Parts: sequence; structure tokens; C-alpha cells
Amino acid sequence: MVESKVSTNEVSVLVDQGLLLPLMEEFYTIQGEGFHQGTAAYFIRLGGCDVGCHWCDVKESWNAETHPPTGIQSIVENAAKYSDTIVVTGGEPLMWDMHPLTEALKAKNLNIHIETSGAYPLTGIWDWICLSPKKNKLPEGRIYDKANELKVIVYNKHDLIFAEQEAAKTNKNCILYLQPEWSVRDKVTPMIVDYVMANPKWKVSLQTHKYLNIP
Ligand code: SF4
Repeated sequence: MVESKVSTNEVSVLVDQGLLLPLMEEFYTIQGEGFHQGTAAYFIRLGGCDVGCHWCDVKESWNAETHPPTGIQSIVENAAKYSDTIVVTGGEPLMWDMHPLTEALKAKNLNIHIETSGAYPLTGIWDWICLSPKKNKLPEGRIYDKANELKVIVYNKHDLIFAEQEAAKTNKNCILYLQPEWSVRDKVTPMIVDYVMANPKWKVSLQTHKYLNIP
């Protein structure tokens, strides 16, 4: 009994240090969205998210405790076998300290991308930051200066107003995307198309992996 308690505490310390991470799944596929759409990449999906988007398509990621704390070295070894482009996603990966994982991936000379809501402080070394802000829990300030792309998910018309508010906070090189939320894509895509033609600083991002029926 005492032994298992100590061991649980040790796991929790290692998770706090970012040396173990709640790994939900890892897979090699094609990046379907945003600037790198069409690029083969290895995805590392970490569990844990408390942002609570009602349309979230990975709700099974929310409870970190349902995903096994996994050593970063084994995650990195697996990733390096498949691709030189690694996408860290979630869940919300910035709930965890990303320094150890990204340092280990960099030691293998891999390109590291993150997909984040920005709701937690930015940690880690990134070659590409995709910031996808959510109304429920807005990004931490510093990430707006670092984001390479801003990807706003559009579920209804008000999301276009939110998109402009968020775009105003980004750096001047940040590429701006509007992406239809999948379950309402038939309804919102025509609205996004009209909006982008009228406001060409924005681009359309589609979840092409879902059209291709790949993960
Ligand atoms: S931030 Fe991402 S993972 Fe978290 S609830 Fe929203 S869509 Fe789901």
C-alpha cells in the first residue's frame, strides 16, 4: 500500500517536471489543417484539457488521468522513426511543461510544431506555433507574439468577431486562418468563403484529413 502511494507520488513529480506525459495516442499521418496542410507528420496527442469547447472532437482527451504517463524518451524514439516533422497536440499540451520533450526532439534535429489554445503559459522550443484561441479560456499574452499561425474555429457568425479580436493581438507575420467547425461545415463554410473574399488577410483552412478519412 505504502509502496504504491510512493510510486504514484513519484509519477506525479515526473509529470510535473515534463519527464512523463499523459500520452493519448501517437500516429504518423498527413497534417490536414493550416499552413502545413498536406505535409506528412508524426502526431503526439497528449491528454488533459479544461478549456471545455462544446464542439470538441477529442473530448476523450480531457481527463489526463485516463492516459498513461509515458516517458518522453520513448515518445521521442517512436517519433524519430517516422518523420522529421512532429506535431504536438491534445488536449491542451501546454498544461504540461514542454521543455523536456521539445529539447529531446530537438536533440534529434526534428522540426517541432504545436497546436494549442494558448490557455496556459508557453513552454518548450518550437519551430511552428499554431495558436487556436478559444472564447472560454483566452490565451496567455506572450504567445500572441510568437504564434506563426492563428487558426480560429468558426461555429457561428459571432466567431468571426472573435477572430478579428484575436487577430488584432497577434504579431504582424502571423498567418490568419478561419476553419469551419466540422459538425456545422455545410452551414458555415459559405459564410467563411464570403468573409475571406471580403477580408483577404484571412485564409480558409479545412480539415482535409477528415475529407481524406485519415486520422
Ligand atoms: S481546446 Fe481543443 S482539446 Fe480542449 S476542449 Fe477545446 S477543442 Fe477540445
